[in-house]
Amino acid sequence: MLAIDDPPADPMATLLDGRSLAAAIEQRLLAVITAGLPLAARPPGLAVLRVGDDPASGVYVANKEKACSRVGIRNLGAHLAADTAAAAVLEQIQRLNANPQVDGILLQLPLPASLEEGPLLMAIDPDKDADGLHTLNLGRLLKGEPGPRSCTPAGVMALLAAAGVDLAGKRAVVVGRSILVGQPMALMLQAANATVSVAHSRTRDLAALTRQAEVLVVAAGQPRMIGAEHVTPGAVVVDVGIHRQPEGGLCGDVRFEEVEPIASAISPVPGGVGPMTVAMLLVNTVLAWCRRHGVDGAVLEDLLV
Ligand code: NDP
Repeated sequence: MLAIDDPPADPMATLLDGRSLAAAIEQRLLAVITAGLPLAARPPGLAVLRVGDDPASGVYVANKEKACSRVGIRNLGAHLAADTAAAAVLEQIQRLNANPQVDGILLQLPLPASLEEGPLLMAIDPDKDADGLHTLNLGRLLKGEPGPRSCTPAGVMALLAAAGVDLAGKRAVVVGRSILVGQPMALMLQAANATVSVAHSRTRDLAALTRQAEVLVVAAGQPRMIGAEHVTPGAVVVDVGIHRQPEGGLCGDVRFEEVEPIASAISPVPGGVGPMTVAMLLVNTVLAWCRRHGVDGAVLEDLLV
């Protein structure tokens, strides 16, 4: 268990290694799928729907497809042209909703500017909502009811749990209030009995607030904005941000080299939250398959708050 009340005795922060945890979760998924196949008589199916040619999305979709094939999830996705009309995307979603081979549907964001994401996300069958972004599923999270969870914050929770971070009674600060990350993150931390503050672009004296955090989750989408001046010694720091640097390579929202020496634990970029987001997408899909076919998915349920 990490003692985040006291400054760490060891000056090296624990690395919240999403790559190895995601690999361990994939092993659990593989075991559940292998055991459930005779009963279900078909593998789980995930449809990643991509519209247009956003280059970053191309990389993310390829990573998701590779992860599916590693654990035995059938990839039933489609790639539609950037000028596809909203009605045609909607029709595609309705076809996937009706397809009994499909357990999870993910509409890869961002969409081309001509398409409005809200109505399309709402058209996904909430029980096939692999991204956990449907209004009904966000409501289920708010009420503490079971359902698919937003993948990125669920991945952060799994990283914290695997590192033995006990959140009960801890002061947590989330930087960012998006529906994709910040808001569901705050709800999940609160559900784990942390006392949560949410910061955003209008927050005054951000550093004074973040320095109160025993657990700091940064999802602001601002490259390297959080430095040593924002972090109290011994804090657990999770960096959700991911940015391609002009000089090559990736960075997060946190200046890792400054914060790592004072944090008790920190997630790297890459290799922290990113692989966990993909792992939780697979978990949502496989749990939906388990529910449809009466397969025992209990070994996965502790991964969702
Ligand atoms: P958004 O741009 O939708 O939201 C950013 C949030 O941060 C907003 O609430 C914004 O405030 C707040 N913010 C922006 N600037 C500041 C600032 N200077 N101080 C305090 N708050 C600020 O981004 P997302 O939530 O979609 O994503 C956040 C980051 O996480 C991005 O870098 C994204 O690429 C990454 N990401 C990574 C994933 C992964 O798997 N690793 C998955 C999803 C996202 P306001 O509301 O006032 O505008």
